[in-house]
Amino acid sequence: MATLFIAQHNLEAMLERLRRKAEVHGPVRGEDGVVRFAELIHGILPDLSAIRTLLPPKKYLLHPRETILKYTSEAGYQLPSESVPPLILFGLHPCDLAGINYLDRIFLGEDPDPLYAARRSALTLIGVSCTPDEFCSCHLYPSPLKALSDLFLNSVKGGFAISSGSPRGEELLEVLKDIVEERDINVPEDTRRFFGHAVSAQVRPELDATLPEWQELADACLGCGACSLCCPTCSCFDVLEFGGLDGRSAVRVRQWDNCLFKCHAEVAGGMSFRKNRAERFRYRYRHKYRGFGPLQGIPACVGCGRCRVVCPAGLDLRPLAARLEEITP
Ligand code: SF4
Ligand code: SF4
Repeated sequence: MATLFIAQHNLEAMLERLRRKAEVHGPVRGEDGVVRFAELIHGILPDLSAIRTLLPPKKYLLHPRETILKYTSEAGYQLPSESVPPLILFGLHPCDLAGINYLDRIFLGEDPDPLYAARRSALTLIGVSCTPDEFCSCHLYPSPLKALSDLFLNSVKGGFAISSGSPRGEELLEVLKDIVEERDINVPEDTRRFFGHAVSAQVRPELDATLPEWQELADACLGCGACSLCCPTCSCFDVLEFGGLDGRSAVRVRQWDNCLFKCHAEVAGGMSFRKNRAERFRYRYRHKYRGFGPLQGIPACVGCGRCRVVCPAGLDLRPLAARLEEITP
């Protein structure tokens, strides 16, 4: 079957054409060996052999710390005015695309978050196929999440099969038409759970709080929060308000928070919903593997493996997940 194909040696030419439309960011390996999403300026090619970046693309949509509301006695409450230039994210793996799909469900639901919505609509997503390593779990557990992208590059011999997933993707194909050709090639089917599986969300039973694993995990965990910082779907935030010294102005700020931090579940009066780390672990597990709230039944873990790579205590929730799927399916 004729498929659109772009040769590997045309990757730089492709990026040049994309740069005419918007700033392009992709996975770049730094001198420290760390792979990060960063600008792909002229002469810099994305590291498409890297399995994962340290931080996921959520940093473009939810800034680690940002002002969400301003107040002055003259103007009252005002949303911050932010100009959001178009941005192309290149080289997103299926897990990161599914992670964005998850964030979309949270922040573009019934009452869309204005900052997220503005950044999301400015974002063009170009996915690329990848080969999972021992930390990945992108194939485990059914999920209604989809790896949606504007363009997707499937790695084949000598280059990539390229397909569009949106009108924006069609426009980009038009821009690339002089370096894209039709070829008869066999594109391997991606069998990961984010492709073509019609799975609906299922409400799951509450987890057994008496399982010894919660305490075992809690005892080993250092409470550093790295697993949550680097997770493409962790999006809990704290909201803080700072009054100006003039007594007439204030800002409301939101910043990334972390469910494994003790303060995350603390409320006024010194109360806490989850006083000990074992409870916090059960909470995190429920969120990542079973979903909760409006996203009940949709596992938030997209299997990128980042939490396992970064955990200084070497914790891995996959064996527990395998056991819990059997005992409380
Ligand atoms: S829980 Fe771990 S493997 Fe799953 S999406 Fe988050 S960082 Fe990736
Ligand atoms: S990265 Fe590991 S040690 Fe740090 S909070 Fe997460 S589970 Fe605990």
